[in-house]
Amino acid sequence: MAAGSPPPPPPPHFVLVPLVAQGHIIPLVDLARLLAARGARATVVTTPLNVDRLRGVAEQAARAGLPLEFVGLPFPPAGSGLPQDCQNADMVADNSQFLPFFFALRELAGPFDAYVRSLAPRPSCIISDWCSPWTAGVASSLGIPRLFFHGPSCFFALCEIMAVDHGLLELIAAAGDDERHLVPGMPVPVTVTKATPPGLFCYPGTELLRREAMEAMRTADGAVLNTFSDLEAQFLEGYEAALGKPVWALGPLSLCNRDEDSTTSRGKTAVDGKQAIMAWLDEQAPGSVVYVSFGSVARKLPKQLFEIGHGLEDSGRSFLWVVKEREAAAPEVREWLDALEARTAGRGLVVRGWAPQLAVLSHRAVGGFVTHCGWNSVLESIAHGVPVVTWPHFSDQFLNERLVVDVLGVGVPVGVASPVMIFDDESAPVARGDIARAMSALMGGGAEADERRKAKEYGEKARRAMEEGGSSYETLTRLIQSFTRSEDKEH
Ligand code: UDP
Repeated sequence: MAAGSPPPPPPPHFVLVPLVAQGHIIPLVDLARLLAARGARATVVTTPLNVDRLRGVAEQAARAGLPLEFVGLPFPPAGSGLPQDCQNADMVADNSQFLPFFFALRELAGPFDAYVRSLAPRPSCIISDWCSPWTAGVASSLGIPRLFFHGPSCFFALCEIMAVDHGLLELIAAAGDDERHLVPGMPVPVTVTKATPPGLFCYPGTELLRREAMEAMRTADGAVLNTFSDLEAQFLEGYEAALGKPVWALGPLSLCNRDEDSTTSRGKTAVDGKQAIMAWLDEQAPGSVVYVSFGSVARKLPKQLFEIGHGLEDSGRSFLWVVKEREAAAPEVREWLDALEARTAGRGLVVRGWAPQLAVLSHRAVGGFVTHCGWNSVLESIAHGVPVVTWPHFSDQFLNERLVVDVLGVGVPVGVASPVMIFDDESAPVARGDIARAMSALMGGGAEADERRKAKEYGEKARRAMEEGGSSYETLTRLIQSFTRSEDKEH
């Protein structure tokens, strides 16, 4: 530095506040790691149980000398009626806890306010989840810029804002169940129904949550999305115009995980049996295995689990199927899964609990993914060139399916038209034959081989987007620069 020249500005400090659900924490932790690796300081604010789960990430960051911290605000609040460990959507026991959980989260506003006020200097920017509008108050009262992170695809986000701007949600509410509605203002035709409305928090009892989230969206300084320009350019352009604010497309964020340590420990520090899973995959032929997993939240009752198991068996394909601990809790389910594994020995593996999904999707043996269309799962699959069988369950997943199947051409639908309840749905809307048929269509050599080719092309583009000179890499550079303040602007 030349004598007399001013010192370089301090690195910007980003405070990131994900919704406490794996599908929201995982991408924002990836973003925090990227920010820290690119010279900024990053703090992820969550709850104690999630801080504990993220211990491995914190330790990796400390070893690498990255300025990345995790803060746990006390939760659940006294009087919420929630058990002490109910600190993540995957710990919600049943449907009756779902609304109390979301309403209890609003009470994090007080502790978050106190935490932000305790920071000196003030953070440069707060990036908080679309579903966490309780972060807006302290940001506006202290004049801290705030961006909202929206978890779903930009296609979904644009449908949502178009639906709101054109009064579509009210129209849908007043219409019959079977009516189909065209979402206005979309660059491609998109139709929705009452069962698949274009919005989050569209369930009875969530009206207040939705109003608060929309208000915080309107008052934010911009949006951060986990997508990339070569995947969703036309929707990004439309979203930025509709929002009237900058939209930062920074994904696929999962591609920041480059070593085995980080690909196998996302979401949970200790993943049981990960070596055995990877060793099993090593024995399979390239592109032969179908990975089957429905994200971190949806839970199925035995009837639907058995149908899936039969579908996998009947398909004749190799499969790696993730069944959640709570789904496999009953002895009759455990026994049934054991018997299935015995019948399909050599070509079928059932993971009970949590899988190292990113490591699985990046393994050369995996050629297809039966997914519930959570946006992280879809994007992780695309980023590794793996086409999908789409089986949406609820929320944004139906519109993510439309993007994957109709627009991108990287998916084959299993054929569901309406949502299931989030937990313990009694119905079994998907039959074994549908599962086997969709798997064959995806993995066979017929016309659908197109999906595999297109997925590979998008996988290449995804990698380029995250490399130096790529669209997401350069967008992150601009984001960091725009929140780097000079000394004279310091608080
Ligand atoms: N995931 C994982 N192992 C599992 C299940 C899920 O690592 O056994 C990760 C997955 O890679 C993704 C996230 O959890 O990053 C799930 O997010 P998604 O948006 O796909 O679905 P959600 O859980 O929000 O329904």
